[in-house]
Amino acid sequence: MRAKRSKQYKKLIQQYQIHHGFREPYQVLVDADLVHDSERFTMDLQAGLERTLHGKVKIMITQCCIRHLYARAKEPGMNRAIDLAKTFERRRCGHRPDKFEEALSTLDCLTHVVDEKGKGENKHRYVVATQDQSVRRYMRTVSGVPLIYINRSVMIMEPMSEMTAKVGASAERAKFRSELRKSAGEKRKRDDGEDDGSEDGSENDDEDNGDDGDDKTAKDDKAEEKKKKKKFGVKGPNPLSVKKKKKKPAEGANSTKPKAANDDTPKKKRIRKHKAQPADGAAPAAAPVATEA
Ligand SMILES: [Zn+2]
Repeated sequence: MRAKRSKQYKKLIQQYQIHHGFREPYQVLVDADLVHDSERFTMDLQAGLERTLHGKVKIMITQCCIRHLYARAKEPGMNRAIDLAKTFERRRCGHRPDKFEEALSTLDCLTHVVDEKGKGENKHRYVVATQDQSVRRYMRTVSGVPLIYINRSVMIMEPMSEMTAKVGASAERAKFRSELRKSAGEKRKRDDGEDDGSEDGSENDDEDNGDDGDDKTAKDDKAEEKKKKKKFGVKGPNPLSVKKKKKKPAEGANSTKPKAANDDTPKKKRIRKHKAQPADGAAPAAAPVATEA
């Protein structure tokens, strides 16, 4: 059971990393009650948070939350909680005693700290560890706030809130769509290439279908089109092979009539040219050979 939960939390924090930019060390805002409860249950708060979040943790406490602890200093066991809280990094919330005679409620203070501008964003990527249900309820409406609380000495990380999951899902969808577009683009290129190669085949299929359903005149028209297309199709590959054949006779035709003779003559010509060039007898020597053959 415990291993299963640990696995779930690991997955959960990975989601926060991927979609909400969380990085170690995770900044965990704790409230007075959570610090107090961790002392009551003699839990190692730092170790517990690091086990839960599967990574290094920096615990922070706001000025208001530490004032909540001081306000209850006379309660049993509160001194240890205060001593512990003093070791955490103080998050300046700006609710100083000279301006605010009483500390703000955990809800008001943490709301201000996490979502300062009320945009529903966890800009500084805090993890909120609070025993206050109203705070957790509010934080579920802010996207990307991992929520932790202690339940009977067991540390619990809440599943992603709907809001957070939505943001993550839309980010994932956008990613998925862009990847789809990419792969579709590649596919299209590939398909285009195939279409170019198999155009004749696809056209034939269309024509067959048309022949089955259309009138004679339409058939004739189409048949003509077919022939034209087919001719073009046949002509397409043929010129490449024909041209090569044409080129040879064209080159050879410069000299004289028979093809067999022409094929032989240029070779002899070339040989004689090499020999003849120094001797200056190239033109007279070549002409008689061509006529002889
Ligand atoms: Zn405050």
